[in-house]
Amino acid sequence: MSIRLPRGTQDILPGDVEKWQLIEKKAREICEKFQYHEIRTPIFEQTDLFLRSVGDTTDIVQKEMYTFDDRGGRSLTLRPEGTASTVRSFVEHKMFGYANQPVKLYYMGPMFRYERPQAGRYRQFVQFGVEAIGSDDPAIDAEVIALAMSLYKEMGLKKLKLVVNSLGDKDSRQAHREALINHFQPRIGEFCSDCQNRLEKNPMRILDCKQDRDHELMKFAPSIIDYLNEESKVYFNKVQQYLTSLGIEFEVDSNLVRGLDYYNHTAFEIMSDAEGFGAITTLCGGGRYNGLTEEIGGPEAPGIGFALSIERFIAALDAEKVELPLNNGIDCYIVSLGEDAKDYTVGLLNKLRQAGFSAERDYLDRKIKAQFKAADRLQAKFVAILGDDELKANKINLKSMDSGEQKEMELASFIEEFTALYRN
Ligand code: ATP
Ligand code: MG
Repeated sequence: MSIRLPRGTQDILPGDVEKWQLIEKKAREICEKFQYHEIRTPIFEQTDLFLRSVGDTTDIVQKEMYTFDDRGGRSLTLRPEGTASTVRSFVEHKMFGYANQPVKLYYMGPMFRYERPQAGRYRQFVQFGVEAIGSDDPAIDAEVIALAMSLYKEMGLKKLKLVVNSLGDKDSRQAHREALINHFQPRIGEFCSDCQNRLEKNPMRILDCKQDRDHELMKFAPSIIDYLNEESKVYFNKVQQYLTSLGIEFEVDSNLVRGLDYYNHTAFEIMSDAEGFGAITTLCGGGRYNGLTEEIGGPEAPGIGFALSIERFIAALDAEKVELPLNNGIDCYIVSLGEDAKDYTVGLLNKLRQAGFSAERDYLDRKIKAQFKAADRLQAKFVAILGDDELKANKINLKSMDSGEQKEMELASFIEEFTALYRN
């Protein structure tokens, strides 16, 4: 049997990878503008990090982690998400001591979850995420949301829906928790075994259950909004006020709870309502996680962030049929005729490249017609034609593929002449 790629993974080939690169570039540009700085953490971490931060009642920890023992008997896990590692690093490197606060970080890289593969759901996927740690100003919540929205909009997405909610502070959540337990307890036997386990440990997670989402008790479950204390309400109102002043439209959805345990106050999701996007519409999720740094052994430092996957980003771009500025074409293709000319193009090609142009030549000893075809396939803007006769006369022909115009140039000054013509 031939070897294939592992289930739930994909090869991203030339032709597709350009889309990825565009998104990655745009993400970096926006982070620069918003002053978020890249952090790169290991692909695997001690398993305990995720148990403590993501939480042991979540789908991720219960079902989705790639956990293994290394040869030294340590339990390691391929990272399923980026916040835990970022906060671990924040604590480990004492970033709470940095002069610049809050510390604003971003990451981009592969995450691993053992999920049932389907459209928009992979076992290895790439997340871009940001974290702002060290401030509980609601303006930073709005900034983080604005950053994600800018990225989607600047890439050309229009059919976006931003949904926000507040999960409240500790006290609000405690009151809500009791209400949820009272609500679900009498009929918890009708729910999946996960929900039964969650009832005491983390009943809010029941609201996010994918299996029991249509159970009638879900429809009128106690809403966190009704349990927010004064402080949490004020905070949530401020976030909404700032979003409005940023011109960002949103809906409040009191049923929005996030998949991970560590969230409080602001929670948000950005979805695509493009037609034909399919069942999974969430592009991006994030929220506030005051208390996570302490969970990981650091001092108190309130944080907020989001994560989005490039896979779903691209699916949304495809669903909206956004035309991306791809396939620019190369600057110059060198066609040669004759042995001496062919030898000469080795150096000439290199000079073009050194002068900053994308350039290519033939490596298959093709006939002149086939070389022109290759130039077409590469969408060459110019074709330089060098035959043995021209070489002897120290000349070269340059053809503009746009206008069809052809021009003879001195071989010795070809790079300068080409540069001047190209810049025109
Ligand atoms: P879902 O409810 O779809 O499983 P989640 O709550 O597990 O999402 P998060 O952990 O919040 O997702 O991750 C943030 C974002 O990462 C999601 O909004 C989605 O865009 C993306 N994402 C999550 N899991 C996958 C996956 N298996 N494949 C591709 N993208 C993913
Ligand atoms: Mg998930």
